[in-house]
Amino acid sequence: MASTDTHGRHITYLRLSVTDRCNLRCQYCMPAEGVHKLQHDDILSFESLLRIARLAVSLGIEKIRVTGGEPLVRKGILPFLQNLAALHGLKELVLTTNGMLLRKYAAELRSAGVQRLNVSLDSMQKKTYATLTRGGNLSRALDGIDAAEETGFPPVKINAVVIRGLNDNELLDFAELTLRTAHQVRFIEYMPTNTASDWPSAFVSGEEILDRIGKVYPIRPLPNVGATGPAKLFQIPGALGTLGIITPISHHFCENCNRIRVTATGIVKGCLFDNGPLSLKPCFERSDEEMRAVLYGVLRNKPDRHHLLDKDTLITPFSMSEIGG
Ligand code: SAM
Repeated sequence: MASTDTHGRHITYLRLSVTDRCNLRCQYCMPAEGVHKLQHDDILSFESLLRIARLAVSLGIEKIRVTGGEPLVRKGILPFLQNLAALHGLKELVLTTNGMLLRKYAAELRSAGVQRLNVSLDSMQKKTYATLTRGGNLSRALDGIDAAEETGFPPVKINAVVIRGLNDNELLDFAELTLRTAHQVRFIEYMPTNTASDWPSAFVSGEEILDRIGKVYPIRPLPNVGATGPAKLFQIPGALGTLGIITPISHHFCENCNRIRVTATGIVKGCLFDNGPLSLKPCFERSDEEMRAVLYGVLRNKPDRHHLLDKDTLITPFSMSEIGG
């Protein structure tokens, strides 16, 4: 049964990061020189990650999203996913990737039991993609998306962080992608992290995104049925796919937030912008019951909302790649 936090929210979703390493260096996510590489011992073993996942599921977590860094760069990821998929009580196993290794792994991910994929694709222009990801290859990402669909995955959700002056000239291209494919293209508001020195001038609100697309195409809101997560959904009449807007900044969705996060180093967070994170590492020597109690404490005391933009709040700067988004 789902556990409920002190604000009455049912907490059913765990974002589990398996590595801080990545094969891209997206400008909005990581410093150019990459993150300070963690030592092998700092990163939790798959055995420990699985133990955390099992205890989280016993507390009512029904959905796990595996993330990173780039989850597919970690050696041994496939058997780990298979073990996660086998957890009794877990209903949904999904993964977020940049797609670079999807051609190689799509079929095996599917047989391991991953049910859905989200792919980060912030530009459909070769040059912009390379600039934004600091060297990424657009064709490879697109080929990865094709591979996922050839393997029988449902149409991937495409996540694009919108940054003024970088990729906001592609809003219509992304919207038009939904006319001919069944993808859900989700525009994400740019969040300030330690790499976001250009924020807020580069910030584009969900409202502006909708407004700019709406000037060219009629878009109608869709009822948020099923597992749409924090995205508000829209569709251009007659389109095969849908548009999603994720607005952590302009209209936060904290009152409906059902997630907790565990990083690859074992930090458990009730909120992405939580300033008092707690390490699960000391619990590894203890019993399942003790570790479960610590996890429950974080889940139960999940903050009512993020305080990112409050005047007097000091949030420790971080790269998203250290947490998993
Ligand atoms: N490597 C995988 C990928 O590319 O999707 C997973 C890790 S990535 C950190 C997870 C998500 O965080 C991506 O969808 C990415 O767009 C998002 N993200 C990273 N930095 C962000 C920022 N400053 N604002 C908004 N979203 C961000």
